[in-house]
Amino acid sequence: MSLYIHIPFCISKCSYCSFTSFKYDFLSAEKYLKALELEICIRFFEKTFKKQKVNTIFVGGGTPTVLDDELIKKLFLILDEYFYLNDVSEFTVESNPNTLSKQKLKILKDFGVNRLSIGVQACQRRLLEILQRAHDYEHVIHSFELVRGVGFDNVNVDLIFGIPTQTLEEWEQSLKNIIDLQPEHIACYNLQLEEGTVLLERVRKGELESCHEELELKMYNRAIEMLVKEGYVHYEISNFSKPSYECKHNLCYWYNDDYAGVGLAAHSHVCGERLSNTDDLKLYVEKLMKGTLPLQERILLSKQDMMSETVFMGLRLINGVNLKNFYDKFNINLTDVWPDQLDKLLSEGLVKISGDYLRLTKKGLPIANVVFREFV
Ligand code: SF4
Repeated sequence: MSLYIHIPFCISKCSYCSFTSFKYDFLSAEKYLKALELEICIRFFEKTFKKQKVNTIFVGGGTPTVLDDELIKKLFLILDEYFYLNDVSEFTVESNPNTLSKQKLKILKDFGVNRLSIGVQACQRRLLEILQRAHDYEHVIHSFELVRGVGFDNVNVDLIFGIPTQTLEEWEQSLKNIIDLQPEHIACYNLQLEEGTVLLERVRKGELESCHEELELKMYNRAIEMLVKEGYVHYEISNFSKPSYECKHNLCYWYNDDYAGVGLAAHSHVCGERLSNTDDLKLYVEKLMKGTLPLQERILLSKQDMMSETVFMGLRLINGVNLKNFYDKFNINLTDVWPDQLDKLLSEGLVKISGDYLRLTKKGLPIANVVFREFV
């Protein structure tokens, strides 16, 4: 099983953020961890979890490393009680550059964390200000030194392109700076202006000009070019890794395998069911204190739902969807489920079939969402 743990606290709110996250304070976080422990405990006794082997753990947020050292230790002690942490093959913690100290990194390492993800997003002060990030590029350099010094040898860096007013040259500079640091994994996300965010409001008011689609496409193609040239494997729409450093936890999502999510707004996909927790922090804590699971939705997936998810998640991978595996899982050929849609996409040159795989073409890659819609 793969396990996701959500820690919904950050130093401050970034202007583009639509994730479930709140300003960190010790007491709220302490209360949250108590509720989180209760959730794991209830699900453990309901047999969603057994003290079992967990293949991957991903602690995300929010910014998990915003927690004080004492609370980080507490979180890991909870996990250690319910899961065999020694058997975990990949244990990732998300972080931001200004929340890392040598001491904190040592705690992570002692509890078996073997992969660190750092949210860098951009290397220019003016862009970091637009994004309202709570760090600058000097923090990134310093964090990287600390992370390597403590002995982490599997590090991911998140970058964002398509930031309002960002130029192609700035994007290239960010890529170059990060390549120089030689992380094992780099994720390049195209910024989405989400409803309810400060950044979208600023664009609507005309204070900032959004990035044009053609420029975004140039930025995306430039990332592929530069990273592949430097030995990174482009293995998923937005993800690049040094050979054999693909993110195992995220591969589980893209293969549409089972995973359990714990914490505020966390999702699970277990035995043909999709479950999601409430995103209301007060309600999450209250329900668990009363011994009830904080579920918002529980959906029994139909065979059609599962086939659709398998295709559009699998198409995110550059290798695509394995047609043999699809047949073994659903006892029907993928080409017989969506014959008309496939004919259309193949004739438009957006997908291709190579050997046992259905995959996006170079033309289909930047407009993957258009392709995915055909399989819903
Ligand atoms: S650090 Fe991440 S989760 Fe926190 S506010 Fe910024 S974008 Fe949102």
